[in-house]
Order: sequence, then C-alpha cells, then structure tokens
Amino acid sequence: MSEFNLINQYFSRHRLDDGLGVGDDCAIITPANHKQLVICTDTLIAGRHFVHETAAHAIGYKAVAVNLSDLAAMGATPHSILLALSLPSTHNTPQWLSEFSAGIYDACNLCNVKLIGGDTTKSDVLTITITAQGFVTHGLAITRAGAKIGDVVCISGAVGTASFALHQILEDLYGDGYAKTPTALDELPDDLKTALQYPTPQVVLGQKLIGYAHSMIDISDGLAQDLGHILSQSGVGARLDLHKIPLHPLINALPNPQKWHYALNGGDDYELCFTLSKEKLAQFKAQNPTLLIYEIGEIVATQGLQLLHQNRPINLPTEGWQHF
Ligand code: ADP
Ligand code: MG
Repeated sequence: MSEFNLINQYFSRHRLDDGLGVGDDCAIITPANHKQLVICTDTLIAGRHFVHETAAHAIGYKAVAVNLSDLAAMGATPHSILLALSLPSTHNTPQWLSEFSAGIYDACNLCNVKLIGGDTTKSDVLTITITAQGFVTHGLAITRAGAKIGDVVCISGAVGTASFALHQILEDLYGDGYAKTPTALDELPDDLKTALQYPTPQVVLGQKLIGYAHSMIDISDGLAQDLGHILSQSGVGARLDLHKIPLHPLINALPNPQKWHYALNGGDDYELCFTLSKEKLAQFKAQNPTLLIYEIGEIVATQGLQLLHQNRPINLPTEGWQHF
C-alpha cells in the first residue's frame, strides 16, 4: 500500500477541535492560558523492546502507553501524540495495519489523546517512535528533583511482573528477539500477558498528585534504578522496606533473592514512584480513597538506597535495565 493511502486509511481518524491534525506539513496545537507544554518521545524496536511474535494491536497499544506514562510521571494531562512508523514490507498488510492502528487508537482513547501527525517510512526493522504532548499548569509539573528528607516513598502498583513475564518466554534476554517457542507468549497466564503487553499508564493518579508529591518518576527501568534517579537529582537517599513492595503472587512465591531481584530490577511495569510528606499522603488518601498507593519506604539524609527486610539491612545487587 502506498504511503498516502496507508496514512489516510489507518492513521487519519482523529480531529482536533482547537487545532490541526494529520494532513498538513505540521500539526497545530492551541495551548490554553497559563499552561506549559510537556513533551516526550520513546522508541520501540521489534526484537529489542518486544518479541517478534507480539500481536500488532499490543505493539500499537504499548508504544502509546509508555509515552503516556512519561507524561503521567510529570503530572501532565496528555493531549496528543505523533507517530513515526518505520515499516518492513512484511508488515505492510491491511490486517497488520488495521490491528496496529486499533492498538494505537485504543491506548489514545483511554486517556482522551489524539493522533495528530507522524511520519511513515519503509525499513528493514519494525520501529515505532511516538512523541507525546501534554499540558500542565505553569510551574506545577512534578519532577525527579524535589524529594525531601522525611518524605514517604510510594508506588502505584506491583513491580517486577512484566520482567517476570518476559523471563518466562525468553531463553536469553539478549538473544534474537524471538520467544523460546512460537506459542510461549500466548501460553502465558492472562495477567502476565497483560502486564507485559498492556501496561496501564497512571495518568489520573499522576495528575491528582499535583500539589501533593514533591518528586515523581515512572518505573520503566526497575524500581531501584528509577528511584535512584529521584535520589540523585534530589540530593537525598532512601530506605526501602522490601516486604512492603507489592508483588504478583507468582513472584511473591519465589525465594527471597529472586523475588527481590524482580522487585528492584524488573522494568517495564510503568507504575509511578513518588515521594510526599506524611501529612500530604494522609490528605491525599482521604480525598482519593479509591486510588491505590503503596508506602514502601522513606527519604533520608544519607545518600544512596538502603534496603531493609523486616527492619534488618540487606545487601543486594541493584542493576535495572541497561540499554548498552
Ligand atoms: P511531509 O512530507 O510534509 O513530512 P508526510 O507526507 O510525511 O508529510 O505526511 C503527510 C501527513 O500525514 C502529515 O500531516 C503527517 O503528520 C501525517 N502522517 C504521516 N505518517 C503518519 C503516521 N504514521 N501517523 C499519523 N500521521 C502521519
Ligand atoms: Mg511537508
């Protein structure tokens, strides 16, 4: 299918009420008064960020979700995305494109986000780059740099599940990008498949934490590494209570070293990690009783990450995902 037919047929569904979307040289966004533009981009490469067997719908969904998660981590309200699609000819089929675009639009609809432009090229390797834009009231974005001594460290949900799922289907993490058998992905239990392929960006929680959280990050590379970014950028340390970290039952059933490995180093869950004062936490919980928050530690003056298990210090290697 030609580039323009492909764009018209699969990626031109959305219209902006207050701007211009797909079809001109650029999209146009009209920012509201007193808002700042918050913008991020993330690339997914076949065989590197998802196994080659992954269904087109899941690829489209996750490519959007990981970007919305970055916006959530700043407390931003997502507005729109751009999609740069590098497509092998094997994937240029009506079936693949309609499922992929449905995944893109399903993730967009979850957060009232519009696809307003992009780029489409032929490539040997399926590569999806999404740029996401959102808005935040001037000066109110939550960054990694504001953690204060005495803050409670919280996360929004279980960590380690996606990397545990990936571990079940791969023989070798740095292998050829295929699952160990053609059906390994399909055979995963549903909740593991969802954790790996359909992460929920914590957009509502992120926005609601404005005015409460001092610092925030989304957990894409592992709790230890991502919390580590908050600590180094805030010039503080933290104490983590390992037994308070919420885990999937299958991970909880593992021997401690393996369990803690997934909890601390497992990436790709896209939960939020944030810090706030005890008083603000109590207020937040009273006002948002349905939003799940897990208290897992405290910000302290001593630099670095101290790990405790039932109040006893534990020494564990913390690595997180290494891209290179
Ligand atoms: P140009 O040549 O001026 O860069 P293109 O021909 O690449 O423009 O794109 C035409 C229009 O289609 C533009 O509005 C662009 O944003 C949009 N577009 C191209 N590829 C995609 C895509 N994969 N998803 C959404 N919009 C796209
Ligand atoms: Mg042009």
